[in-house]
Amino acid sequence: MQETLALVTGAAGGIGEAVTRLLAEQGTTVAAVDRDAERLTETAALLRKEGLAVTEFAADVTSSSAVERLVEEVETRLGPVHQLVNAAGVLRLGPAHTLTDEDWTATLSVNATGVFHMSRAVVARMIRRRTGAVVTVASNAAGTARAEMAAYAASKAAATAFTKCLGLEVASYGIRCNVVAPGSTDTPMLRGMHTAETAAQASVAGRPDQYRVGIPLGKVALPEDVARAVAFLLSDDAGHITMHELTVDGGATLG
Ligand code: NAD
Repeated sequence: MQETLALVTGAAGGIGEAVTRLLAEQGTTVAAVDRDAERLTETAALLRKEGLAVTEFAADVTSSSAVERLVEEVETRLGPVHQLVNAAGVLRLGPAHTLTDEDWTATLSVNATGVFHMSRAVVARMIRRRTGAVVTVASNAAGTARAEMAAYAASKAAATAFTKCLGLEVASYGIRCNVVAPGSTDTPMLRGMHTAETAAQASVAGRPDQYRVGIPLGKVALPEDVARAVAFLLSDDAGHITMHELTVDGGATLG
């Protein structure tokens, strides 16, 4: 039987690393992609030491030519990509009226355009093979207004809408495209917002200047919580699920 190959972006740390680890533990071969080449090499080496089939490919998802070259290289070296996880992302916080042009462009070019570049390159190949699954890691901020997150939320809403439209177009080829929308998750991105502790406290309690609502389950997610949702949507267990947005936020924006 042919081995399953997944390409995971943002794999150097946080949610992307947790997805890479979980998929590899489940027997999937993983092409781990990130623009932070140094951290990616460390992460992949660590996972390989544990016997996991992970190969690193440094690339920046904002460059369409780099993404096209990357996917070609991955398929030449490892074989056809069956699963794509778009987890690379950036967060620039600030009131909308103070965001710079650079804040806006940097956010949209990774979180929205990067998802477009990767999905286009991989799905074009999946269509020829008439099989595949895509999961985009967006955010619950895409659907619920939050202070200081205008650029981020707009980029995640774009990525969510793009992934659902793509899912409609490629459903007849047997390709499923879904979205996982995490809430606050304990990763370097969240820690970068404040100190780890204050970010977690603010998330859980729902401080109104930062968050619209708190987290009913009373804790921020671990990267592994999000990774399990991603792995489920990629798997045959989700074989009849496409164009779905699965929120993993402890109930913060649900109900
Ligand atoms: P993180 O900052 O820990 O990891 C993001 C990774 O993306 C980093 O390794 C970074 O180097 C990589 N990356 C950034 N720009 C890139 C580019 N142009 N090309 C390739 N790689 C690039 O963040 P995380 O919390 O693990 O976030 C993973 C995803 O989950 C992101 O899309 C993020 O927006 C989303 N998310 C995170 C949270 C949270 O609370 N942590 C909540 C909702 C959604």
